[in-house]
Amino acid sequence: MNKQTATKNLDEIITKVEGARLRISEHHIVKIIGISKYSSKDDVETLYNAGQRAFGENKVQDLKEKMEALENLPIEWHFVGTLQKNKINNLIDLNPTLVQSLDSLDLAQELNKKLEAKNKKLNALLQINSAYENTKSGVMPENAVEIYKQILETCPNIRLKGVMSIGAHVEDEKVIKDSFKTTKKIYDELVPFGAKYCSMGMSSDYELAITCGSNMIRVGSTLFKD
Ligand SMILES: *Cc1c(COP(=O)(O)O)cnc(C)c1O
Repeated sequence: MNKQTATKNLDEIITKVEGARLRISEHHIVKIIGISKYSSKDDVETLYNAGQRAFGENKVQDLKEKMEALENLPIEWHFVGTLQKNKINNLIDLNPTLVQSLDSLDLAQELNKKLEAKNKKLNALLQINSAYENTKSGVMPENAVEIYKQILETCPNIRLKGVMSIGAHVEDEKVIKDSFKTTKKIYDELVPFGAKYCSMGMSSDYELAITCGSNMIRVGSTLFKD
């Protein structure tokens, strides 16, 4: 990807985000995370030079490789993938800005234990399976508020910052919208408990997600397209 393409891709996304967020309010700020899982470190650097500052990966090993290769750039790194228990220590050592994919109480408690042992803290989002798809990770919507509170109570080394969802994997926009609304409703209930981020929306549905209240989008293919 050359600089011109990177700038064009980023500008297109920023313009669409701007349109969508203003439909909510002038003060509705949306953070854009570039998901670089199918892209090279050089493409990440090109996008950094075009102005993008936050990136995310879905595998601990890939996150490590990109972070190390680009350590001279002040990039904010996110982890968005399924976290296997045997990778927890590696992820903690990388010290990412935000782990968006905490998908069970069990995983949270395991993560907390390892954070305690290392005397470290980590920012995280609770992933919600708001589309009820069995191919997806995350807690069920009806249990989400309770599990969020349990993590707050039992995991002092995890700083919970909100929720993350992947929109329904269907064509029907109404179904996708319903899945976003489900997550937004849970987020609203959790704001009094310190939730700051409602992370939802990817390349195909980020405008819809923002109009449903998302304040963090994760875009991969449209940002990195050639
Ligand atoms: C891959 C991925 C994305 C980005 O997907 P695109 O459709 O390429 O924008 C966002 N969130 C998560 C959790 C992902 O794994």
